[in-house]
Amino acid sequence: MIYWDHAGTTPPDDDVVSTMAEVMKKHYGNPSALHQYGEEAAKLLKKAREVCAAALEAEPSEIVLTSGATEGNNMAIKGAALQYKSRGKHLITTRTEHPSVYESFRQLEQLGWEVTYVPVDANGRVDVQALADAVRKDTVLVSIMHVNNETGAVQPLMEIGQTVKQRNHRTLFHIDGVQGFGKLEVSLKNWQADLYTLSAHKFNGPRGIGVLYVRRGVELFPLLSGGQQENGHRAGTENVAAAVGMAKAMRLGRERQPEFYRQASLIRNKLLQEIAEIPGTVMNSSREGAPHIMNFSYPGVKPEVIVHALEELGMLVSTKSACSSKLSEPSRVLLEMGKDMSIASSGIRISLGRHHRLEDAERLIDALKTATGKLRPFIERKGT
Ligand code: PMP
Repeated sequence: MIYWDHAGTTPPDDDVVSTMAEVMKKHYGNPSALHQYGEEAAKLLKKAREVCAAALEAEPSEIVLTSGATEGNNMAIKGAALQYKSRGKHLITTRTEHPSVYESFRQLEQLGWEVTYVPVDANGRVDVQALADAVRKDTVLVSIMHVNNETGAVQPLMEIGQTVKQRNHRTLFHIDGVQGFGKLEVSLKNWQADLYTLSAHKFNGPRGIGVLYVRRGVELFPLLSGGQQENGHRAGTENVAAAVGMAKAMRLGRERQPEFYRQASLIRNKLLQEIAEIPGTVMNSSREGAPHIMNFSYPGVKPEVIVHALEELGMLVSTKSACSSKLSEPSRVLLEMGKDMSIASSGIRISLGRHHRLEDAERLIDALKTATGKLRPFIERKGT
């Protein structure tokens, strides 16, 4: 089998797994405890936080450990909205965000906040002028993702950060960075980010842990009440083993990023070119996007049919994103990019990991030709 679903989740590195196993066995103390087991665990946690901070060129005190990006995104968006409601109740995002962002805004709308959804272009990139026009005096938060999890579209974060801060220097800028870290360059300073979310299982770390970067001086209303862990941002006994594993994966992710980018770009260029030549293919991603996520449709054919046909040929790919692949609705992301219903209902996603080579791409292209060849009579032609 060849696994093409790294945007869904990545295999944890062997080193990460063995380090975590050791921590779980040997250092199970509660980091809040005063005895030596507690102190040992607290030391490991402190070190892990420093490593995570270094990978983002941030301060350890700016790193909040979460259970993953769903929690991080909820915490950033709802926490900022609640904390700063005296400044205003206006928020800005797009309709192409991950459900953990989009649904957080939908919930805030139900609770009385006003949300402006800025449009994206045909490539999924935010209309920065529309964003500039949308920022107001009472805009508390703008949330825009780095890399789209369905299409790989990359947002111009530096331009967005500049625009937001020029319009209103008090407006907070949150970035869902989940699909970008370890793949593209990250610079929270250049982006003028106030809040930045990551999830360890997307960069060969463990599942169930993530980082929310909270810039010094920014306060969040805590969603989980209880103890004073994570500087009062998130109550609950810390998962020390997962934190240590994530820190290792983050350091490696940052170190390997340039090489990943180079290798993934080579494979992506081949895939994009040769898949586009398969009759009936409609491409939903372009070379402008991130090198590791590609999306394309065979309108008229249910994407599950192609996913299963590819699986029989040894290729594991996905439809939309893992979080919404069991829903048979069209992709909200593709619709927002202006794709029609039949294209938006038939998106297939392939996402690369660090072990892929050009030969793997050749096998995938052959499999896709075979799978779609049999389905050709059912594929609607869209003039491509
Ligand atoms: N944001 C994006 C862009 C994602 O791709 C994901 C994972 N599908 C999440 C947030 C949520 O991450 P987690 O599953 O770790 O909660």
